[in-house]
Amino acid sequence: MNSSISSSINSERSKFLFSGQLVKFSVTIHNLDFIKTLKEDVMDIKNKTIIITGAARGLGAAMAEKLAGHNCKLGLIDLDKDSIAKTASVCEAAGAEVMCVSADVTKEDDVINAYSEVVNQMGPLAGSINNAGITRDGLLVKFKDGEFVKRMSLEEWQAVIDINLTGVFLCGREAAQHMIEGGQGGVIINISSIARHGNFGQTNYSATKAGVQSMAVVWAKELSKYGIRVNSIAPGFINTEMVAGMPDNVKEKLAKMVPVGRIGEPDEVAKAAEFIFMNEYYSGRCIDLDGAQRL
Ligand code: NAP
Repeated sequence: MNSSISSSINSERSKFLFSGQLVKFSVTIHNLDFIKTLKEDVMDIKNKTIIITGAARGLGAAMAEKLAGHNCKLGLIDLDKDSIAKTASVCEAAGAEVMCVSADVTKEDDVINAYSEVVNQMGPLAGSINNAGITRDGLLVKFKDGEFVKRMSLEEWQAVIDINLTGVFLCGREAAQHMIEGGQGGVIINISSIARHGNFGQTNYSATKAGVQSMAVVWAKELSKYGIRVNSIAPGFINTEMVAGMPDNVKEKLAKMVPVGRIGEPDEVAKAAEFIFMNEYYSGRCIDLDGAQRL
């Protein structure tokens, strides 16, 4: 065996954390004890604490409801905690313990306090889905018949940056610190979008969705040594309230743009989140959930 392989195997002597219940085994390769500490390959989130931002409706609510079926503890965050009541009761009926917290993800103190409150009441943090997001669409500069009409304002740019990018940074940072302090690893999911490839009329939104996907890769590299996995999900058009409220002819047009012939359902995004929690080898990647659509 060459020396670089044997030294890398030696460095594997340190604890190698996957998940679940610890199972130690040892193998002898060319007279070297190769010791890995493995866990079961399916993460058990029963009684584990998971925070979801923007949980009052849409994808946040769908992901909460899906994970609730695993009997976890959910810290549900939204701007106004009363707006989370419906999600909370569905999750409780599905078997989760639920805590609702008001926080604006753009405000550092709100995020710090919300994560602390949840951890203090529910126990060590095992998951954070950084989902809250908005759109403020518009062209970079709009001209009609050679005349300037309007351009994306700094306010439209900044509002989206603050919630979709800074909000995810603040929640991801808080989650990472709590998970490291809890000493049990964890899972962080950033909600990106198909728009991360650059969508017409979405300068601000596309920039943030590329940003949160790339932050997930950085965090996966930085946090793996603490047993923390980080991924993103990039949905295409999904049937949340925003899309459901559109006229039927617009929805039909949207559906025709998707090769599978329809827009996605929130539960399909929730299944992607569930997969990320369950699969202990999945980290540093982005799940594209867009029915084969390309921008
Ligand atoms: P949604 O229905 O508009 O829900 C977003 C939730 O986030 C709302 O409850 C909203 O509260 C909350 N929120 C907004 N600003 C917040 C803040 N500063 N702090 C805390 N909570 C805040 O959106 P969605 O369609 O479920 O989308 C969820 C995520 O998926 C977003 O990041 C979005 O960009 C992404 N995504 C969605 C689609 C899609 O087709 N739906 C596709 C790709 C990606 P209020 O109602 O009080 O504002």
